[in-house]
Amino acid sequence: MDRFEYRDGELYCEEVRVEDICRDVGTPVYIYSHGTIIDHYRKLDEAFGEIDHLICFSVKSNSNLAVIRALAKAGAGMDIVSGGELYRVLKAGVDPSKVVYASVGKSEEEIEFALQAGIMMFNVESRPEAEAINRVAGRMGVKARIAFRINPDVDPHTHKHITTGKGGTKFGIPIDEAVETYLWAKERLGNLIPCGVHCHIGSQITSVEPYKEALSRIVPLVSELRRNGLEIDTLNIGGGLGIVYKDETPSTADEFAAAVLPYVRDLGCKLIIEPGRFIVGNAGILATKVLYIKRTPHKNFLIVDAAMNDLIRPAFYDSYHRIAPVRIRTEETDTFDVVGPVCETGDYFAKDRRINLVEPGDIISIFSAGAYGFTMSSNYNSRPRAAEVMVIEDRYYIVRKRETYLDLIRGEAIPGELM
Ligand SMILES: *Cc1c(COP(=O)(O)O)cnc(C)c1O
Repeated sequence: MDRFEYRDGELYCEEVRVEDICRDVGTPVYIYSHGTIIDHYRKLDEAFGEIDHLICFSVKSNSNLAVIRALAKAGAGMDIVSGGELYRVLKAGVDPSKVVYASVGKSEEEIEFALQAGIMMFNVESRPEAEAINRVAGRMGVKARIAFRINPDVDPHTHKHITTGKGGTKFGIPIDEAVETYLWAKERLGNLIPCGVHCHIGSQITSVEPYKEALSRIVPLVSELRRNGLEIDTLNIGGGLGIVYKDETPSTADEFAAAVLPYVRDLGCKLIIEPGRFIVGNAGILATKVLYIKRTPHKNFLIVDAAMNDLIRPAFYDSYHRIAPVRIRTEETDTFDVVGPVCETGDYFAKDRRINLVEPGDIISIFSAGAYGFTMSSNYNSRPRAAEVMVIEDRYYIVRKRETYLDLIRGEAIPGELM
């Protein structure tokens, strides 16, 4: 369920007309529905209501301060992957004791920052990383709670760029080395408290089967670790819950919980889930203006003012995004490629798509752009990044200003010798 809907041929986000936002704020612009974000969070939170759990929002999917703040206010914890994300969540007023930190390459500075902040735990991906955390914690005179990220060697049946829980990816510790790794940490790394087990098998997973497969390997591991004297109190099953982009039929929060709960109900662990896309994916659109309509003997192009630097998912993952005008002028459609102005053939949002006829100057909406949209944007082609807007019922707020040309060159300098 999301709160983008057409009323009399005009697209609304909650109670605000999308065209009004675009007229005031300009394009391209990301527009997020606060109500949708909170609704998705609550659905998952309630589905796991019967056990001790924490939903840690995956900040890399959408790291705008307003989004982080909204979720934190609703009770969410945060899943971070860098010192920069830690900085953001602290700025947004998140309780650090609800923050978990994953990444295969944490620097000592980042580790120190996280220990200073007092995060809940690190998700550790290798022995050298465990040693680094142990070293920094020792220097600071603190103990660090850790989970090893275990790679259960499960195929989540998703795009190869977002498969992480299979053997041969860079992520985690192979499951058959798990016990010896925990025992090694317990015996040798005195500043660590190895109290959790973490896994994250991939992203945009639409079936519960890969999760069940992972749990059927991870849950016995928890018992085995306990038999070996480790006090495991936290099980983190990662994120990856899929959403509808086109015609997928992803499991609902309730179906997901029904699949997971039998494995974890009597485990006596706090359950952590790290959804990103599930919460924000369908809670955001990218609105963009049609600049030109170019008809060639082979194809028709809608050339719009957003580009791959604003939303790279189609180029990066061949991903599908529904596209439609925010004001439907006519039922008549034609087939278009929707492309941006960047000098790359990969700069497209859709190919051979039936779209209602539009005129130059019309705004179109690229749907399901709330996750891995703005956060993966760049300044390629020296394009200032888009504005971000959050709608709360009948009001909208600019939650990130559109960048200016000055922002583009901030921090750059020309050596004196060249002057
Ligand atoms: C990216 C990531 C997530 C979130 O993935 P989604 O598919 O957006 O739910 C969760 N946990 C870890 C460790 C991640 O790297």
